[in-house]
Amino acid sequence: MSIDLAFDREHIWHPYTSMLTPLPVYPIVAAAGCELVLEDGRRLVDGTASWWSAVHGYNHPVLNAALTTQLSQMAHVMFGGITHEPAIQLAKQLLQMVPSTLTKVFFADSGSIAVEVAIKMALQYWQAINPQKTKLISLRKGYHGDTFAAMAVCDPIDSMHGMFKELLPQHFFLPAPDCPFDSPFTPRSVEPLAQLLSAHHQDIAALILEPIVQGYGGMRFYHPHYLSAVRALCDKYGILLIADEIATGFGRTGKLFACEHANIAPDIMCLGKALSGGYLTLAATLCTDEVARGISQSAAGGLMHGPTFMANPLACAVALASLGLIATGAWQQQVANIEQQLKRELAPCKQFAKVKDVRVLGAIGVLEMQEPVNVAALQAAFVAQGVWIRPFNNLIYIMPPFTISAKELSQLTQAMVQVSA
Ligand SMILES: *Cc1c(COP(=O)(O)O)cnc(C)c1O
Repeated sequence: MSIDLAFDREHIWHPYTSMLTPLPVYPIVAAAGCELVLEDGRRLVDGTASWWSAVHGYNHPVLNAALTTQLSQMAHVMFGGITHEPAIQLAKQLLQMVPSTLTKVFFADSGSIAVEVAIKMALQYWQAINPQKTKLISLRKGYHGDTFAAMAVCDPIDSMHGMFKELLPQHFFLPAPDCPFDSPFTPRSVEPLAQLLSAHHQDIAALILEPIVQGYGGMRFYHPHYLSAVRALCDKYGILLIADEIATGFGRTGKLFACEHANIAPDIMCLGKALSGGYLTLAATLCTDEVARGISQSAAGGLMHGPTFMANPLACAVALASLGLIATGAWQQQVANIEQQLKRELAPCKQFAKVKDVRVLGAIGVLEMQEPVNVAALQAAFVAQGVWIRPFNNLIYIMPPFTISAKELSQLTQAMVQVSA
């Protein structure tokens, strides 16, 4: 039986698409290692890790085993008034990996919800301590998810959420950092924050950012000194710092967490995407003792959030197995190798007239084009070349599984070179 693409087109939403003129979708029937298998048997080398998540590749025996073992125990139980081993073991493992000042874990069911919870934590903390502090600071070109509190801290003009602007709470926005990761640091890039804080700190609860890598807002890499300067200014003015490590966490940028590039620790940290090795939807929001104490002193007395599928045991078990693979440290050499190879093999693109910039950091390779690309046409060209790469706007970028072979990675870079020439 073949996959009913006509039904899909007529009845099923896909991400960020129109129901009237949807972009084409490709029928995938299996995935293993770093390849996706099309219904007609063709294999595509995966350049996306399914949106940053499948860092160990697909159909991984260790992750499969963790999931089936847990399935034979229990698939799910509510987390209100109940606890279980997968949640406890996963929280223990997480707390060993993150900065030691982060001590409390909230399990959320998606990245956007982890951001909602982080914002709620920050606002509820200040409700107890200083209720005047209700505003957030975010960065232009930032992306933090698709739910409403998260949308309100996404880039207010460029983002796909621009149309909801009037319906969203109004926060403060800083210019996108104009200090690239590998150029000399320009201290004036943090002046807008210094000015904003000196004028408005009494109204501001927290600053939220994606550390080092601004993802869907433009795939931009900024300088670690910017992040340390933000931390110092937040400390000076008593502002909570929320690090959204949903895309960057677990090794993607060459450090276990991107905050490590600047040696800083946030007050609240969001994790997701690679957390469950790309198997099930799971995210987490971590905070310090101080934040947890403040929240618990607020009028509500507790953190007012509790999803039905909170700390789902299947998701926790597979995440624990994934973190076990991360904890072996193999990712460090893998990501370093990917970075070297991406730098080498994408370098020729710098000469192409259509290419504005070529950027590589850790296991992320980006071609910024002069003009927006034709996504459907480019996607078809990539599939014809046996690779899965999903461009958007003027960005052709990859963030493959860490387990990709040098040969597979070359297939991806060759396809990128070819379409951008
Ligand atoms: C993907 C992403 C989110 C949203 O996560 P979902 O699981 O898609 O809701 C939030 N913040 C960042 C930085 C992301 O990359």
